Amino acid sequence: MICEIISVGTELLLGEIANTDAQYISKGLAELGIFCYYHSVCGDNPARLNETLRIARGRADIIITTGGLGPTADDLTKETIAAAFGRKLYTDEAQLERLKIRMSGRPMTSNNLKQADLPEGCTVLENDWGTAPGCAIEWEEGKHLIMLPGPPSECRPMFDHRARPYLMALSDSVIYSTYIRIYGMGESAVEDKLSFLMNSLENPTAAPYAKDGECEVRVTARAKTEEEAKAMCAPVVEQIREILGDVIYGIDVGSIEEALSMVMKEKKLTVATAESCTAGLVAKRITDIAGASEYFNMGVVTYSNEAKMKLLGVSEETLKAHGAVSPETAAEMARGIRLLSGADIGISVTGIAGPGGGTPEKPVGLYYAGVSTAEGEEVISRSFRTTRQRIRHSAASAAIDLARRAAEKL
Ligand code: ATP
Ligand code: MG
Repeated sequence: MICEIISVGTELLLGEIANTDAQYISKGLAELGIFCYYHSVCGDNPARLNETLRIARGRADIIITTGGLGPTADDLTKETIAAAFGRKLYTDEAQLERLKIRMSGRPMTSNNLKQADLPEGCTVLENDWGTAPGCAIEWEEGKHLIMLPGPPSECRPMFDHRARPYLMALSDSVIYSTYIRIYGMGESAVEDKLSFLMNSLENPTAAPYAKDGECEVRVTARAKTEEEAKAMCAPVVEQIREILGDVIYGIDVGSIEEALSMVMKEKKLTVATAESCTAGLVAKRITDIAGASEYFNMGVVTYSNEAKMKLLGVSEETLKAHGAVSPETAAEMARGIRLLSGADIGISVTGIAGPGGGTPEKPVGLYYAGVSTAEGEEVISRSFRTTRQRIRHSAASAAIDLARRAAEKL
């Protein structure tokens, strides 16, 4: 099945908003194994929407539209589509009732009522997240058009809970995907290591993706039932685990900090943070996970050399001989916070986030992340020139991943 997304809205063409609806839907389609060949964007103009529909129906089996289902004069998607596919609009009594209940207390104008008008013969997609229902029509055998509302807070759940089941029912097989999350190995290195395996696979398939400075491998199987598809993915995931080893921080986990949370809770360990260039980002990300108080002990931001010495016991000689951005300082910071806090694991970050402050020996983007346990200290370094925000994000990820690895070994 080939799908085309038509996003309707003049504000998209004016550059006022980005087409995040299409992005979200496309991702969902990929997970369902439905190919999306084109995204079209068209203003709130019936003639141009007609033309866009004409092109799309010539090259797609499924058309998904977003936007223009609301009550205002520029919301013309439903009317235009109904006319283009030769369907009359009727007032859906059940939707009218729902609308009245949702609007109760607020004045109902005739343009509000038009949201309950739907094309004859459609499947109604009830909207529990807003007022305008969506709908689907089969315009000819095996060819479907689905209309979804524009606001992302409605479009996304409408796609997940209404369009997705509708699309899944069109096929007699299900698609199941599992995500292997990787930190510390780039997409091309992962691809290189897995190419032999990936080339030999047909169902399931495996494909790596770069994501926010990390990498993930999606393993997808198609089968009659979800259990069957899951069972087909499992041995491939195991094989990939064996090939890639401990750069894999989790399967179907949301983030490195979530993976850290899992291992810390399981092993009943505690962690504390000492940060320089990330200034609290590591602590923030660790505590973004609900329940972090079980294992997050404390965090300090030591920006100046003086603070590093006073709070963490970093020695003056180390700072003089190697500088604040050095593996020696990172190790002493991690050890210092571990001893100060009494936590099982201390982690640290020191680096040059830029844009200024770099030197030829210590360029912008260079950072050290350290970890300390009763077994000793370990420091890693990375250097890549990018924005201040990305450097800090990357440095924080490195520290959190060090904590995760250390916890796994304890
Ligand atoms: P409403 O009932 O709010 O009028 P609607 O279905 O008629 O919903 P639109 O009027 O087209 O949708 O868009 C409403 C708002 O939703 C836009 O102003 C914009 O903020 C957001 N929106 C619309 N389309 C998109 C899109 N493709 N991607 C992201 N946001 C969108
Ligand atoms: Mg609108």
